[in-house]
Amino acid sequence: MASDSVSSQAPQVALVGAGPGHPEFITLRAVECLRRADLVLYDRLVPRRILEHAALTAKCICIDSLHERHAQRIPHIHQTMIDAAKQGLRVVRLKGGDPFVFGRGGEEAAALRAAGISYEIVPGVTAALGAAACAAIPLTHRHYASGVAFIAGHEQPDKGDSALDFAALARFPGTLVFYMGVVRLPFLVQSLIEHGKPPDTPCAAVRWAATPQQQTVEAPLRELPQVVAQAEMKAPALIIVGAVVGLRRELEWFERRPLFGKHVLVTRPRHQAGDMVRQLEELGARTSLLPAVEVRPPMDWSAVDRAIAELSRYQWLVFTSANGVSFFLRRLREVGRDLRALGSLRLAAIGPATADALREYHLEPDLVPDEYRSENLAAALRDRVRGQRVLLARADRGRELLHEELAAVAEVEQVAVYSQCDAVDWDAAVLEELKAGHVDYVTLTSSNIARALVRSLEASGLAVLRDGRVRLVTISPVTSAAVRELGLPVAAEAREYTVAGVVTALLEDVQEKEKRLPKG
Ligand code: SAH
Repeated sequence: MASDSVSSQAPQVALVGAGPGHPEFITLRAVECLRRADLVLYDRLVPRRILEHAALTAKCICIDSLHERHAQRIPHIHQTMIDAAKQGLRVVRLKGGDPFVFGRGGEEAAALRAAGISYEIVPGVTAALGAAACAAIPLTHRHYASGVAFIAGHEQPDKGDSALDFAALARFPGTLVFYMGVVRLPFLVQSLIEHGKPPDTPCAAVRWAATPQQQTVEAPLRELPQVVAQAEMKAPALIIVGAVVGLRRELEWFERRPLFGKHVLVTRPRHQAGDMVRQLEELGARTSLLPAVEVRPPMDWSAVDRAIAELSRYQWLVFTSANGVSFFLRRLREVGRDLRALGSLRLAAIGPATADALREYHLEPDLVPDEYRSENLAAALRDRVRGQRVLLARADRGRELLHEELAAVAEVEQVAVYSQCDAVDWDAAVLEELKAGHVDYVTLTSSNIARALVRSLEASGLAVLRDGRVRLVTISPVTSAAVRELGLPVAAEAREYTVAGVVTALLEDVQEKEKRLPKG
């Protein structure tokens, strides 16, 4: 809540544009407002990931959920903002696209002004601009369009006769972009043609622009209603009318990305999923997060604390995961020690991600095997640790191989620095999509993840994995073996046992399948 004198002078309410749907098509000011908000009132069309910029303590309410309960929806939204601001809360009113383009932002600002509430307005990328960029239709062009008009097509046919001046629109020397126009499309098209717009004017309809579910159809004006109906296109969609649509064929990029149209499930723990999600989305995939395992601090720290107290007894400290690094080093701080406690200990990391986790603490591992797996780490360490004392910092469940191999040549103490368990709160909506086969790929980055996922699915859910409708991509031969043991087929396996390796394997599988089945 605003406390010091400077922030108490800041506007009480921010009317913020959330952009067209891409979680990163949002302004820095919008992120800053969200970061400081106590209450966020958002529209249904706002991408959920944008809400993650808000503090955990902020209350986020979807205003469409107020809709059913309040016939007087608009005044109710206004009053909710005003009441919260009067209580001293910092309010963000988060709207799809831009607040001042068909967003009723003008009415909301007026209501705030009338109530004596201060506000700021943060612009957003309006849907037309999102569609222009991602459907590759320049809205203006030196040769084809010297202007652009944003027009409300209104989706409720019961709104009565159009207030639109079709004669003026038909004459307009530029691109027409209709918002909320799908339901009334036949009427809009007929009216434009009747008022002189050439029936062969190139047109496009773009649904869910700037999202991984973007859908675009093109047709000459006279055929557009039929083409849109055939494609079963519904709101939210924009209708773009003008010669510039013809440039799309040459400029298209968004829907051409190699994973566009693919729905990929990421099953890593939430705090570790970001990197994979980003890599997949950059290639065009739609991702859903279904963390199959969770990592937590161990129930009992005493063995770890004892090892920390006696660190100088060891010559080697071995990490088998990035989680192991962060839990161990955080615990070091919690018991009042710091990196100096590591002294001259030699450090080993099982693979590149674990090595990078060490580097984040400015620690350079002395040993990282060429290939990321226990067998290779054991082989690389065996000769170097002979006769020495080794501390193995690991999860409470996992393979015993490394411990057994090293214990044959050295004195090894292993401590569980974190605990890994099956996820408890599975996202029911994502699980349903998986069971229904509305997912193309599931990525599996460990054997534990594979087993936890299978435990969470009933027989009905397993069917789509078993028959290959949903394809499984694994991080390594060890994970593949676990998957096969569960009776499931592996579609692709990473050559390099990293997140990037999994993404590459998935991509290659898509490309191979496409080669076999050329697009009709
Ligand atoms: N303030 C918003 C518009 C709100 S009106 C903005 O500036 O974008 C809602 C209409 O916007 C929808 O009916 C649809 O026509 C359009 N729209 C919003 N997001 C869209 C998207 N991602 N793709 C296509 N059209 C979208």
